Amino acid sequence: MKILLKGGRVVDPANGLDGTYDVLVDGERIAAVGRDLPAGDAQVREVPRGAVVSPGFIDMHVHLREPGQEHKETVATGTAAAVAGGFTAVACMPNTDPVNDQASVTRLILERASAAGLARVYPIGAVSRGSKGEQMAEIADLREAGCVAVSDDGRPVATALLMRRVLEYTRMFGMPVIDHCEDPSLKGDGVAHEGYHAARLGLRGIPGEAEALMVERDITLAGMTGGHVHVAHMSARDSLRAVRAGRARGVRVTCEVTPHHFTLTDEVLEGYDTNVKMNPPLRAAEDRDAMIDGLADGSVDAIATDHAPHHYDEKMVEFDRAPFGIVGLETAVSLTLDRLVHAGRIPLKRAVELLSVNPARILGVAGGTLAPGGLADITVLAPDLAVTVAPATFRSRSRNTPFGGWTLRGGVAATIVGGRVLFVNPDVPGAAALAGPR
Ligand SMILES: [Zn+2]
Repeated sequence: MKILLKGGRVVDPANGLDGTYDVLVDGERIAAVGRDLPAGDAQVREVPRGAVVSPGFIDMHVHLREPGQEHKETVATGTAAAVAGGFTAVACMPNTDPVNDQASVTRLILERASAAGLARVYPIGAVSRGSKGEQMAEIADLREAGCVAVSDDGRPVATALLMRRVLEYTRMFGMPVIDHCEDPSLKGDGVAHEGYHAARLGLRGIPGEAEALMVERDITLAGMTGGHVHVAHMSARDSLRAVRAGRARGVRVTCEVTPHHFTLTDEVLEGYDTNVKMNPPLRAAEDRDAMIDGLADGSVDAIATDHAPHHYDEKMVEFDRAPFGIVGLETAVSLTLDRLVHAGRIPLKRAVELLSVNPARILGVAGGTLAPGGLADITVLAPDLAVTVAPATFRSRSRNTPFGGWTLRGGVAATIVGGRVLFVNPDVPGAAALAGPR
């Protein structure tokens, strides 16, 4: 079946397009992008006025919790949240139970993803068995089963020697090693950014240096081995400085920033809300501003959510005892549009690079482009939509977000995966037409 998406503003940085174009989809692939394309035998679907058609967004850092913690999230609920949030694909971290350190776990995740039939799922395998930081996992098997990267996320790659070995090994496949950068001894049992607010509230601190030290180690080892290190959820200004310096001397280092780290600071700790407890912690305004500078100037490659669902009861405890992390899939696009694009910090084209082009490139997966022949994974944005964040309506099984009740400018109009319209936002006038006749 052919569909002609008619009359949207197409923003496709990989092909240098920003203007009014039609997009012809044939089955699961893009057939053509051009002005006033003839419909032929295609079904014509009008793009809502003011909407933006872009290559599908890819969230390269999510926790789907399955197998093992299905009360927080499953592959099905997580990928439903993804498409509702404008993501056509997600890469899921291996800290499940059991850990995704063997092909059987990878295959299970992929089976669940294909049964759900929503966003594409790219599993990330463990660096080490059980993510214990001792023996390297069977990375060739993991890759063969479908893993696109390796990480011990939740914790850093434990030793410099293991990091060296895994960078040497993955270099042969061109696979990135994604590191949750923190020096465990310096992090200690900290729960919040070490600074004025944590001190005032009597919360144990985690200094930004705990992250930057590990970023420095990893960049040194990536330089030594020629491997590719990707810094997960970067939060500290000293980490960004290290990334810039590493890149300047030719090291293969990329990095991502979460929406909460470019939006919030440790000032919000004052409410003791456990939904502002995350790892790495929300940092000082100087750090937050540095992350925005990096997103704007190209030194940060990707926006990734670190979507970390936790059950309501688990977060309803005192701050010290609450688990780290928040959900992010259903708020990321609105936060990006409101805080970065409408705030005048980045153009829309750059947002598409951060959410689509670069994640695809870093992970070496399809997408990030509307080039003919490529997958018809498309995110349609409603850049001026007034969005009020309503956690009760989330598709995710968890609702742990600090953004409930926030009003943001910009949202998702529709999400198309492999030519199938899997989400249409009922709040966007005219978006229903994208789903086609009922
Ligand atoms: Zn992490």
